[in-house]
Amino acid sequence: MRILVVEDEKRLANALKQILEEQRYQVDAAYTGNEGYDFAQSGLYDLIVLDVMLPGMDGFEVARKLRKNKIQTPILMLTAKSTVPDKVSGLDSGADDYMTKPFAPQELLARIRALSRRQGEVVADELSFGDICFVPAAGTLRCGQKEIRLNYKESQILKLLLARPSFILSKEELITKVWGYDSDAGDSNVEAYISFLRKKLSFISSNTLIVSVKKQGYHLEAPHA
Ligand code: CA
Repeated sequence: MRILVVEDEKRLANALKQILEEQRYQVDAAYTGNEGYDFAQSGLYDLIVLDVMLPGMDGFEVARKLRKNKIQTPILMLTAKSTVPDKVSGLDSGADDYMTKPFAPQELLARIRALSRRQGEVVADELSFGDICFVPAAGTLRCGQKEIRLNYKESQILKLLLARPSFILSKEELITKVWGYDSDAGDSNVEAYISFLRKKLSFISSNTLIVSVKKQGYHLEAPHA
């Protein structure tokens, strides 16, 4: 399970990261609202721990924007504020749960477990679009009776495309999110993986297309959807 921690107090962010990593969660930290939003909208996370008081976009705004863009990742909001109106705006902005600082690590972990269980009920383990169905945990892509396994990078790319099928995902965004900020990967790497994915789609006889939009990027299209 991959968790994003968005917290501007670096000491607290690092403490959270450590607590979560001890429980074998994979954790990334972001230190501003804007950075947190950019990370979160990749759709790569299973849960977001989001502070309210952040420089730039605050936690409420981050949550609202994510929900507006159909990112349904469960959000656990953290804040020093404990008044009722703040809790209400937190939940109204799209957070799933709310915790006030200071808190005990045990409580945080319990709430994370509860949220991930809840996510399991609501969010399917499968991502479907058009005639395809992708199971991220297994890396299997299915169309009707035919199935094929995707490697790690193919899975990451497809997951990003499936998160918002009609949204155009740029090569730059794909490089940053799949290869990482500091990688040497370029457009040709993305093109190669897109072509692998297209071959796999055709192997399972899917009519779902990865459409290239000149100078912009890629999106998914289901001709008969
Ligand atoms: Ca803060």
